[in-house]
Order: sequence, then C-alpha cells, then structure tokens
Amino acid sequence: MPTFEEAKRKVAELVVAKGFGNTAREVPNKLLFAFIELGEAGDSWKKGKPPGETIEELIDVIFYVLDASRLIDPRANLDEVFEKKLTKNLARPPRYGEAFREKLGS
Ligand SMILES: [Mg+2]
Repeated sequence: MPTFEEAKRKVAELVVAKGFGNTAREVPNKLLFAFIELGEAGDSWKKGKPPGETIEELIDVIFYVLDASRLIDPRANLDEVFEKKLTKNLARPPRYGEAFREKLGS
C-alpha cells in the first residue's frame, strides 16, 4: 500500500515515461484534468456503472492531484501535510463548514 509520497513518485515516473507535461507551467492543466476526471466519476456514478469503474475515475483524480502537487512544490511532503490537515479538521466542531444549515433551520 503506497503512501501519498510513494504514489506521487510513481505518478511522476508515469508522467515522464509517457511524455506528459512535467513543469509548473502544466499545473493549470493538471488541475483542469482533475476536475474532468471528477466529472467522469460523477457521470459513472449517476449512470449506475459498477462501483469499480467509478472508483477508477476517482483514482484518476488522485493521479492529477498528486501530479499537480509535486509541480506546485516538489518539497512538500504529502504524508505530513495529510496528517497535519487531518489533525486540524479533527479539532474542528461537528459538521464544521456547514453554518448555512443554521441559517436554513436544518
Ligand atoms: Mg478517467
């Protein structure tokens, strides 16, 4: 089971091996492709495709997110960032970020 950092290295190897863009200039495209793959996941789910197909589209999203992250900052350790962000979110109140529910009375 790879860590985020291991997965990021594998995606980088794939990008180089297949000749895809490999500079920070490509970041907007990588992020756009992540959104496109997310749309493919939504479409797959909406059409009742086998769960495995929807999950594979979500993995495509992760590929682009990992790829964009290393081009944005090659020194960022995603395993550390993940743990730090998880700790931060766990310290937040229940259903944080859903203040709109109080306004709606729901
Ligand atoms: Mg796809």
